[in-house]
Amino acid sequence: MLPLFKKPLLAYHAGLFSLVFLTGVAAAQLTSEYIILGSILFVEYFILLIIMLHLYDKYMKPIKKTTQTVNELVKGNYRVRIHHSAGGNIAELNNKLNALARNLSEFEIQEQMQEDRLSTVIDNTQSGLVLIDEKGYIHLVNRKFISMFGGNAHDYQGYLYYDVLADETIHETVQEAFLYETNIKHSFTQTFEIDTKYIEIVGAPIFNERGMLKGAVLLLYDITHLKKLELMRKDFVANVSHELKTPITSISGFAETLLSGAKNDKESLDRFLTIIYDESSRLQGLIEDLLTLSRLESDEFKIARTDVDMNQLIEEVLPVIDQRVKQKDITLTTDVKGDITLRADGERIKQIIMNLLTNAISYTGENGAVNLAVTDEGESIHIHVSDDGIGIPKEAITRIFERFYRVDKARSRNTGGTGLGLAIVKHIVEVHDGNISVESEPDKGSTFHVYLPKNDPASS
Ligand code: ADP
Repeated sequence: MLPLFKKPLLAYHAGLFSLVFLTGVAAAQLTSEYIILGSILFVEYFILLIIMLHLYDKYMKPIKKTTQTVNELVKGNYRVRIHHSAGGNIAELNNKLNALARNLSEFEIQEQMQEDRLSTVIDNTQSGLVLIDEKGYIHLVNRKFISMFGGNAHDYQGYLYYDVLADETIHETVQEAFLYETNIKHSFTQTFEIDTKYIEIVGAPIFNERGMLKGAVLLLYDITHLKKLELMRKDFVANVSHELKTPITSISGFAETLLSGAKNDKESLDRFLTIIYDESSRLQGLIEDLLTLSRLESDEFKIARTDVDMNQLIEEVLPVIDQRVKQKDITLTTDVKGDITLRADGERIKQIIMNLLTNAISYTGENGAVNLAVTDEGESIHIHVSDDGIGIPKEAITRIFERFYRVDKARSRNTGGTGLGLAIVKHIVEVHDGNISVESEPDKGSTFHVYLPKNDPASS
């Protein structure tokens, strides 16, 4: 098929030839010289036509192809190649163009890969990120930022930061970063849906190669977890100070009273010394519990697992609490079905049982009943300690494992409680990969359930 624009050329030559031929024929009737002249003209035009077609194929067509390819490259289509079998300079030019297209397409692939890598990092970073230009327009927000502030990227990108971000601290951070051209750090609270988050914001100015301010990048860190820990630590220190202050004040107060004359009165001497002794025992108990908790929480803490025979362990615990049981006339029953052994830290398991039994006795009235049962449940053992004591109100059940939480502060103190017993139990259960729960009804009693795996889960 000939290209379209070649058709008029052909038509022109054919027309010219026909005109000459017809004129020739007409003239032939007149003279034979005209026939010869007509034939010569016909041959001449035919040769001229062939030459023109040849020239078009050799020079015009490759140039046209090359121009098309360059146009495609200019448009950014680097996949385009020239497959025309031209020779000479045009062939060399085509080869160079193909090499250029190949290089550009490799460059494009690499650039795309780099862009993908960068956006993966930006989107998966655990801090919110906002990119602002020197006029204050937001160019980029990442996924974490969206999860903190809601909406989607289009709600922020392309807008002025102060039009779409309401918090004053963010505005201050951007303005200060622009003004002082240095990193600025602030923190604020952000409420999204029902959650309140503590956010630390760092505004860092960005400069171009000539050191001129180009914009700023904002990094937003969710520090809610750290804030909560800080708050817990502050509460803990306040609680410990308070717990220590009470017995110490009492000890020094009674010692002072004795020194200022009461020691001469035999009755007062006995009474005050008993109080000093009781308060110092409480102090000792508190310090022991605090040390136990801090040991359990330390990074170096490791449980020493051995084969623990539950019958034997209970035999060792009972004499320790015997005096308290007798004092309150409590009926203590134990129920261990058969030989039950588990791989655990014996001393810690003993502490679990001791703390649960001590509580059961403390929070049960005189003549009450306390039962300790251990059952083998295949993969785990189930320790349950129940009493028919005062029980725990429903709203307090989730809080009793918190440090220093007590339903009735006065009652706990009177029984020598430190408010740390259940926190210690929960810790020990957790380091053994077990779990603990409680069922209780006020004035009816409570049952604590502890499940511990029989074997070390880490070794299976
Ligand atoms: P405490 O030294 O005060 O006993 P714990 O951490 O052992 O501290 O217990 C926390 C609180 O849980 C207690 O103050 C008490 O109010 C409640 N509690 C624990 N065990 C029982 C129980 N068996 N019956 C009723 N209340 C209990």
